[in-house]
Amino acid sequence: MINSELYIKNLSNKQPTKDITVDDIKYKIPKSTSKKEIEIKISKDVIFSKKNIPIIAGPNGVENRKLIFNVARFLKKNGVKIIRGHAYKPLTFPYRSKQYKESMTQGMDWMDEVKKYFGLKVVTEVTEIRHIDRINQTADIMQIGSRNMQNLELLRELALTKKPLILKRHFGASLRDMLGAAEHILVEGNSKLILCERGVSAPHTHKDTSRFMLDVQAIVALKELTKFPIISDPSHASFWAPWVSPLAYASIAAGCDGLIIEMHPNPSKSAVDPLQPLNFKEFSNFLSTSKKISKIFNKRII
Ligand code: PEP
Ligand code: MN
Repeated sequence: MINSELYIKNLSNKQPTKDITVDDIKYKIPKSTSKKEIEIKISKDVIFSKKNIPIIAGPNGVENRKLIFNVARFLKKNGVKIIRGHAYKPLTFPYRSKQYKESMTQGMDWMDEVKKYFGLKVVTEVTEIRHIDRINQTADIMQIGSRNMQNLELLRELALTKKPLILKRHFGASLRDMLGAAEHILVEGNSKLILCERGVSAPHTHKDTSRFMLDVQAIVALKELTKFPIISDPSHASFWAPWVSPLAYASIAAGCDGLIIEMHPNPSKSAVDPLQPLNFKEFSNFLSTSKKISKIFNKRII
């Protein structure tokens, strides 16, 4: 029989059931777990903090100018301040439909126009070091996609820009892995870091429901462990528009400090993942319910 008292006494980790040990917090991820509250100010009225839930919304890809203007106009009208869309886009498989080409620098030019006309802030993904300079000119926040969570060279180069960054959790990564990756950014002197839960690989018992499963518990755990804003992406977790709003509400209840919501004026025409984006009407409903729910938790949707 294990003498559990002895077992606990001889471990520096006083909570042996948890993935992250006391030694990890002291020596491996001290900056990630520092107790200093981090607020990330993107502009006067766009602040990631424990009081706000900024919404980051837009299509999967910056497919064309018309789409981006259409979405931007709608977001502006509905008081959403951050548009998302990737002009550089990793896909699970290397084949792209004819409809979908990466818009790259042209996509960034369209995002520049949208910033100018609608005063929106821009979130977009960086997949390679050689794209950083151009994306950095346009993006207000650069996103590190889940597939690149441990691309340490990319993390370092992005950290050195001193821009706010979103680090998405890889769908197979423990929180320890994720905070280890965060630490690589923080040691370079960039603490404008937003951590994002986007769903983890589902066990075989859940394969009938979806490819990934939103780890709502990770939001609570990350809030306990770190002082960085923790945001949630229910769109990439569920891949299924009807589930996005309920999972967003659960994320608000779990304490998230922001949400990424994929939306498209005509989801079935989306070149990538057409089952996932909310349409304008669904997005409006999501927004009005989120506003009510966030009030209960003393937070404000912005
Ligand atoms: C995305 O945000 O469009 C995306 C590809 O997300 P993830 O890296 O989480 O799959
Ligand atoms: Mn996507």
